[in-house]
Amino acid sequence: METIVKPDPVRRGARMPDYAAACRTFSWAEARAQMSGLPDGRGLNIAHEAVDRHAETRGTAVALRILGRDGATTDITYADLRRRTSRFANALGMLGVTRGERVFTLLPRTLDLYVAALGTLKAGCVLSPLFSAFGPEPVAERLRLGEGCVLVTTPRLYERRVRPVRDGLPALRHVLLTGDPAAGPDDGDEGFSSLAHLLEAADDAFAIPPTDPEDTALLHFTSGTTGRPKGAVHVHEAVVAHHATATAALDLGADDVFWCTADPGWVTGTSYGIVAPLTHGATLLVDEGDFDAERWYRVLADQRVTVWYTAPTALRMLLRHGTDAAARHDLSALRHVASVGEPLNAEVVRWSAEALGTPVHDNWWQTETGAIMISNFAAEDIRPGSMGRPLPGIEAAVLERGPDGRALRVDGGVREVVDPGTDGELALRVGWPSLFRGYLDQEERYAASFADGWYLTGDVVRRDADGWFWFAGRADDVIKTAGHLVGPFEVESVLMAHPAVAEAAVIGKPDPVAGELVKAFVTLRPGWEPDAALHDELLGFARRRLGSVAPKELTVDPHLPHTRSGKILRRLLKARELGLPEGDLSTVETS
Ligand code: ATP
Ligand code: MG
Repeated sequence: METIVKPDPVRRGARMPDYAAACRTFSWAEARAQMSGLPDGRGLNIAHEAVDRHAETRGTAVALRILGRDGATTDITYADLRRRTSRFANALGMLGVTRGERVFTLLPRTLDLYVAALGTLKAGCVLSPLFSAFGPEPVAERLRLGEGCVLVTTPRLYERRVRPVRDGLPALRHVLLTGDPAAGPDDGDEGFSSLAHLLEAADDAFAIPPTDPEDTALLHFTSGTTGRPKGAVHVHEAVVAHHATATAALDLGADDVFWCTADPGWVTGTSYGIVAPLTHGATLLVDEGDFDAERWYRVLADQRVTVWYTAPTALRMLLRHGTDAAARHDLSALRHVASVGEPLNAEVVRWSAEALGTPVHDNWWQTETGAIMISNFAAEDIRPGSMGRPLPGIEAAVLERGPDGRALRVDGGVREVVDPGTDGELALRVGWPSLFRGYLDQEERYAASFADGWYLTGDVVRRDADGWFWFAGRADDVIKTAGHLVGPFEVESVLMAHPAVAEAAVIGKPDPVAGELVKAFVTLRPGWEPDAALHDELLGFARRRLGSVAPKELTVDPHLPHTRSGKILRRLLKARELGLPEGDLSTVETS
């Protein structure tokens, strides 16, 4: 078994030095007791844990360091963030917005977004952050589904994304526009208010109302990788898991400079891009810019980032950029790097150990789970290509599955796979605080996600004899070829091991003999030509390593389709290949 052995200094500094001991001693009740709770036993509120709690004790510490598009750096202390978020909560009150009502944001990653998000949670309203690059239809669909009554956005985004669909949004009472009030419409016109005017008029002090840990806090839409995005409902108690999992899986603490590259429009960008680093009292780096390999290395080096949370696509782009680029920057502060969202190919883990000075730690979770569930840990050796082991407090299982890839119902229940190495549906024992409490408007679908006390994830995995989990694919993407079940990830990882391949996606294509044949799409690294010789070489390379489950067809594609959260859209490749309708495209990356 290939492992990357972690150097000693990392082991010594790790916040969870002994995985086995942590699993034995961990309890969610104790994790809950680590939260401060609202004063006078008034409950548990995410924004209190993230902001007010620290404003009392270490108000001068930097909560947010914002790297502006214009090159300016702005530091916001915890005390300052408390004042600003309190003003926002008061502003909602001034507008007559009440507890439980839904506040949407459609904002780029600027200070306004963080203030609105945390201010909304303080007020006891439900936050639903939308990705700012969504077009009018995805915005309208989510606002409609979520019955948003407040939208915080920029004048430009409003004109382009919201005005065309505003008539279809009767529940939307208030639109709060950021930026210069003089440039926008008058307050009150068509429900518009200038955010700046509201914050100016609002009081600095706000007492968070009693918050039941089961009060709804967040409404998060899934990435839409397998179809129409689903709205997952999360409660305030989730903060217990945000906090505890950040210690265990991200090795995060108060003295860290933490950078999460995910946008808060995706769950990672909220759970770990807003909440968890602040509950720890760390400094959260907010980068307003887009992906650019050189600039990202500069941010890591200049800001002395200690813990970095990113995604496989971004890492693959850095890899494509070459190892020399990393070597030109001083990454010595970087202690821990983690990745989520898609399978992380072993190739990328090996590359990062050399290029970044620390291997990337893969971890697995979903919008529905609210927090990291399975991870490679800071103090433990890494098995490249494995998503790791369940976090302390999390019980994971592999369930026997039927031909559709989903858990087989046996006498109304389910059964665990006995043999290590046999794949099945990944399931998690219900009982951790950040598990979603519902899908918006889809009660049946929610109910169907549970069986025998397990939450069924829809992902196909195997567990090795030592308890490490290996991702095979989504149940929807698993390929049946000549009697074999093939997880696309395994085939993609083999292709990625060829020096010409930067990214790979594999689908099943109907075939009269094999049932399905494996078809691969690859993007090449710079300097390689997509000629017939390379085509044959790649197929041969895969055949030698994979045997009968190797791809039979291969296409070089300079732009594999991705979701905006960075995931390869195999369903779209398949629809295009088969000439079928392309389905819901609301989250497809277009630029
Ligand atoms: P939808 O549910 O709308 O189809 P989605 O599942 O991509 O979209 P998310 O909740 O953002 O929406 O993503 C969770 C999924 O991402 C997981 O179920 C899994 O398929 C994939 N994933 C996340 N992390 C990993 C990982 N480390 N390795 C492999 N797959 C991962
Ligand atoms: Mg999903």
